[in-house]
Order: sequence, then structure tokens, then C-alpha cells
Amino acid sequence: MPRNMAPALISSPEDIVEYFVQDASKVDVGSPDGYVERFIHSEIYRIFPEVQSVVHSHAPSVLPYTITDVEMRPCVHMSGFLDFAHDKGQSVKKFDVSQFYGKDDIHDLLIRNKSLGAHFADFFSGPGQKISENVVLMRGHGFTVVGESIVESVFRAIYTAENASIQTTAMNMNYMARMNERKDSDINYLRNTELHDTTEMTKWSVMRPWRLWIREVETDPFYVNSA
Ligand SMILES: [Zn+2]
Repeated sequence: MPRNMAPALISSPEDIVEYFVQDASKVDVGSPDGYVERFIHSEIYRIFPEVQSVVHSHAPSVLPYTITDVEMRPCVHMSGFLDFAHDKGQSVKKFDVSQFYGKDDIHDLLIRNKSLGAHFADFFSGPGQKISENVVLMRGHGFTVVGESIVESVFRAIYTAENASIQTTAMNMNYMARMNERKDSDINYLRNTELHDTTEMTKWSVMRPWRLWIREVETDPFYVNSA
């Protein structure tokens, strides 16, 4: 993970800190200080060996869904992964860290220790401790996605944020239509029958946006690679 700096500012291998999955302690005790929220990552990796990449984000478009009862649901063909099981019209789960604070925990909404990390990771879990979510929202804070590769988790993080802004726009339009006496107005979220097939489609089409995102990073002088 990045040392304690904005991830986009990483420029060399020295900016990366390696941790043990077991307890998120540094592999090299001489490494620079890292993220306090590393327990989000370590506990998910510890509980679900099939997860190879975890992205945690504070993308603003998602945040309204973390503080309201409005359910986030798959709206477009790139975000079928939001409903992991593709069969129950499931909305994205919401985690409220305040339910799990220990006696001495700081109440700043961060996942600061192994215990909070374990409670959070448990939200990705379904029957038999099998993984049952690709995305979990975090109240007043952000969201976390998992994937079997960096490509997959980055794709899911970006399209979770895109889905949120599309859903918000659709809800606003729907509200205005109803205000204008359009009683028949409704939002037609992706149907259960469409979720599986759209998710399969993104498995082969994901490299297209991925190569674009790489190119954007390579050509933008904001990002520096001194490795
Ligand atoms: Zn955070």
C-alpha cells in the first residue's frame, strides 16, 4: 500500500509499504508510516483468499447513498457486479462502523484496528463464510470494493462511482416527472435476468477502459514515475 500520502502522488518503490495480511504489521519495521485504514485491506485478504485486490474510496458521488436509506442498485450494463448474486434484486450493503466501536476506539469513522476491520470484512460474507458482496458502502465515509485482480477492483471502484451519479440523476428526473403529474414515472433498474449477462460482458470488455486509464496516467504530467 502507499506510504502515508495520497496514492496518486506515489512515484517510486520507496513509496510502497508492505504488510503482513495476518495483522497488518509492517514486513520491514524500518518502512515509513502507512495508512491507518490498512485493516480494511488486511482483514478482507485474511478472510477471503480469492480476493487479490481491494480498493477503498471516498468518491463524492457515492457518499449520499451512505447516509440515506436510499438503496444503491445496478442501473447500467457496466455495473451489474453491484448485485453479487444476480438473482435477488439486491441493493448494496451499508456498514455503520459506530455499531462496532470498542470501549477505547476513536469515533472518527475510520477502520483503525483489526477488530473493526474484521467486522467490516464480515459484511462481504454470506452463508458459509463465502464471499457474497463485491461492494460495501460505509456510512459518512465511502465504500470498498474487492476483485480477483487489480484490473477488476479498479473497474468496479470506478463504475460504483459512475453508477451512483447515474442513479442520482435518474432519481432526480423521476422526482421531477412525478412533480409534473407524471404518475406513471418510475426507474427501471437492471432486471435480474440482465445482471448475469452484463457482468459476463464486462469480463471481456474491461481491458478497453483499463488501457485508456493507463494511458491517461502515463500522459498526465500530474503523475510521476521515477522508478
Ligand atoms: Zn477511508
